[in-house]
Amino acid sequence: MQAPFRSDSVSLLSSIGHPRERTASGVLSPYHFKRRAIGADDISVKITHCGICYGDVVYTRNKHEDSKYPVVPGHEIAGIVQEVGSNVHRFKIGDPVGVGTYINSCRNCDECNEGLEVQCPNGMVPTINAVDVDGTITKGGYSSFIVVHERYCYKIPENYPLALAAPLLCSGITVYTPMIHHKMNQPGKSLGVIGLGGLGHMAVKFAKAFGLNVTVFSTSISKKEEALNVLGADKFVVSTDEEEMKTLSRSLDFIIDSASGDHPFDPYMSLLKTNGLYEIDYWKFHWWDEIDTRNVGVLRCQQDLSGD
Ligand SMILES: [Zn+2]
Ligand SMILES: [Zn+2]
Repeated sequence: MQAPFRSDSVSLLSSIGHPRERTASGVLSPYHFKRRAIGADDISVKITHCGICYGDVVYTRNKHEDSKYPVVPGHEIAGIVQEVGSNVHRFKIGDPVGVGTYINSCRNCDECNEGLEVQCPNGMVPTINAVDVDGTITKGGYSSFIVVHERYCYKIPENYPLALAAPLLCSGITVYTPMIHHKMNQPGKSLGVIGLGGLGHMAVKFAKAFGLNVTVFSTSISKKEEALNVLGADKFVVSTDEEEMKTLSRSLDFIIDSASGDHPFDPYMSLLKTNGLYEIDYWKFHWWDEIDTRNVGVLRCQQDLSGD
């Protein structure tokens, strides 16, 4: 499970910088900055918890070579409303709320009007490392508070533990959305989950809640205990065990691939039933380069490949 991260343990207190903190070292250190003044439609959220997601690692370590230092990571934000603008009616001071991966969009297109702001063709603004409409660089949840348009905040049920709510704001919804879209919530169907990091563990938990039969694949036997006894998966397979992989041939209705490290697709494709679905659910540039197109050509006839 992603470790929920108490933001007050790394509150950004000081403006003193050190070159190492502002490069790809990935080392975090105190940093002082100001949020914008609260606008009529804004709320200010005192951040109590923030998840740790691979996206935070990407930006702190400049893995995509577009980090805008100093980076303030964190896009699985949970906290308490501490101030509301004059037009805000959905939230009041004291409400538990969450902020996820984006904090702005045009609010005037089909996608925005359908609640799909993250797909806004006019420019969704990510919560970290992005240029907002006012020209500032967005700074995320590893901080003491955030000011955000109420549109991009979500109510968290009273008494729901904020530490558990935080990881739902990115890894949770990233898995849940394709599972619902592709009808992976049918009890009795079988799901393979590749990789047991932040996304993978969410996939197992959702799948078990939906009543699926879940097999976890990992290169490391060390994940077995967590997969079976903590998360409740039905089966655990070390993916390098060719014999065991063979026994699962054409046995799965769905696969969710959440392993961001380099790995081949082919050994898993053969585990899908006819009309099975392979969902690629990790963040990597050009993942399609890794697919052997000769095999995809064959597989297209009988199985679906999807990416979110
Ligand atoms: Zn829009
Ligand atoms: Zn994320």
